Amino acid sequence: MAVSGRAPRAVVVGGGVGGLACAIDLARAGVAVTLCERAAEVGGKLRQVAVAGRSIDAGPTVLTMRWVFEGLFADAGTTLAEQLTLTPMETLARHAWADGSRLDLHAELERSADAIGAFAGAAEARGFREFCRHSATIYRMVAAPFIASARPSLPGLVGSLGLGGLGGVFKIDFHRSMWRALGDFFRDPRLRQLFARYATYYGSDPFTAPATLNLIAHVEQLGVWTVEGGMIGLATALRRVGASLGVSLRCGAEVAEVAVQGGKARGVVLAGGEAIAADAVIVNGDVAAVAEGRLGAAAAAAVKTPAADRRSLSALTWACVAEVKGWPLVRHNVCFSRDYAAEFAALAAGRLPAEPTVYICAQDRGDVVAGAAAYTAAAGPQRLLILVNAPPCGGEGRFRHPEIDACQQATFQLLRRCGLDLTLTPEATLLTTPNELAALFPGTHGAIYGAATRGFTDTLRRQGARTRLAGLYLAGGSVHPGAGVPMATLSGRHAAQSVLADLASTAGWRPAGTAGGTSTRSATTGATG
Ligand SMILES: Cc1cc2nc3c(=O)[nH]c(=O)nc-3n(C[C@H](O)[C@H](O)[C@H](O)COP(=O)(O)OP(=O)(O)OC[C@H]3O[C@@H](n4cnc5c(N)ncnc54)[C@H](O)[C@@H]3O)c2cc1C
Repeated sequence: MAVSGRAPRAVVVGGGVGGLACAIDLARAGVAVTLCERAAEVGGKLRQVAVAGRSIDAGPTVLTMRWVFEGLFADAGTTLAEQLTLTPMETLARHAWADGSRLDLHAELERSADAIGAFAGAAEARGFREFCRHSATIYRMVAAPFIASARPSLPGLVGSLGLGGLGGVFKIDFHRSMWRALGDFFRDPRLRQLFARYATYYGSDPFTAPATLNLIAHVEQLGVWTVEGGMIGLATALRRVGASLGVSLRCGAEVAEVAVQGGKARGVVLAGGEAIAADAVIVNGDVAAVAEGRLGAAAAAAVKTPAADRRSLSALTWACVAEVKGWPLVRHNVCFSRDYAAEFAALAAGRLPAEPTVYICAQDRGDVVAGAAAYTAAAGPQRLLILVNAPPCGGEGRFRHPEIDACQQATFQLLRRCGLDLTLTPEATLLTTPNELAALFPGTHGAIYGAATRGFTDTLRRQGARTRLAGLYLAGGSVHPGAGVPMATLSGRHAAQSVLADLASTAGWRPAGTAGGTSTRSATTGATG
């Protein structure tokens, strides 16, 4: 990777959060970065759509792991507070079932325990407290050696856990399914279902995902935030900070091939034929797209091919402005199907479920503070993102309208069973299916979280930042440490670290300023000091 007297150059392919974070870390170290994004704007899955003249977040809506963004912005010489207004949520989510019962979970653990006690009895409240201790322990054990590590391995995990051998690794509960483990804490099937749903935050099925993923419940307890102006604000802030550090942004620039010379990635060729030379190429598209050969044969040969039967969940979403009758929505709401096992069996078989669990993000709703609404949403139609899980087999019209219509009917019927009546109108509704997601994110077939996690070793088998081709790196939700906005951001930081380390070792080049260091903010506690 000869750099000979000039700043090294990097091309980042894709402006999702992983690509943006990578571009920022490289630029602040003195690398000349060009970011090529095929869409008209950066953000990737963080996208807003216009419905009935109003902007609606149509991708992620739940922001956690604030420390990830604090670290990234601080290392870039600014602060999260300067770039974004985040508001912590006191009410994490409102949950409803077809039997008419409802339960709110809160940021404050004891408030949730009291709510669970009133909902299902004192034994379940005790089970919840125990579950919280358990999920916090798992989180603490894997946060540093797995989430914050650029390339975790089983021996590395065992060593850093200091558990006195492999036996101790059982404490992270990798050997049984989430669903099974939850049965130890909750007798009430509604609570088991509620906490099992956290598997879907990682695109996985709670009946096959390792119980280690119960740590996600703890991640929510460390805090859930809303972003003023919507989640797109995060992408805008990352783009702004990147620009201030000199990142050259090319939107509408689809990369068709990674150029290879002398066995090394030497730049990219755009779909229009333009060549951009670079010392390092970082692909933020899905690893499956690279493996399929969408960026050329040399890049395809350089990555692990993700197994088709390991694709994570997709989704069917309705971004709409709609009248809601029934109980008051909070920001995040979930209405549960009556048969969770049947729902996930259908998804695993590649079908839309006969009765899906429904998530509703009410984007005009704020928080509920100590029992009183922090603000009352104006009466009348409100902005909603309604989401149900779907199998990852989108593309080429794979999902057809009769199937989608049946799922839509089942979705709104389930909402009615749970006490909510929504009136959608065609002019104020935008439906997105796995077909559209597959077209927006090439190579994914609509899977929105990369690969699903079945056994714990799946997490260790994920592709890391480095590939088999020198100079070619990967960043994003489909590679280590996995999907979700903060995790994909971390993957971008891991990729930047790998690029900088390789530039230093092969070209003798030294990063500017911070020497390429990354924040020491605590992955273990979520502390931001
Ligand atoms: C409906 C939905 C709901 C979600 N909910 C949540 C949530 O509540 N909380 C959460 O944390 N996460 C959630 N996620 C997951 C989260 O959005 C993703 O894990 C994360 O945003 C992925 O970021 P990324 O860095 O992998 O890039 P992506 O967002 O996947 O972006 C990749 C970018 O690369 C571009 N690209 C691809 N190929 C090329 C090419 N050849 N040339 C140029 N550009 C290219 C694409 O256009 C895209 O902009 C959700 C996702 C979806 C879709």
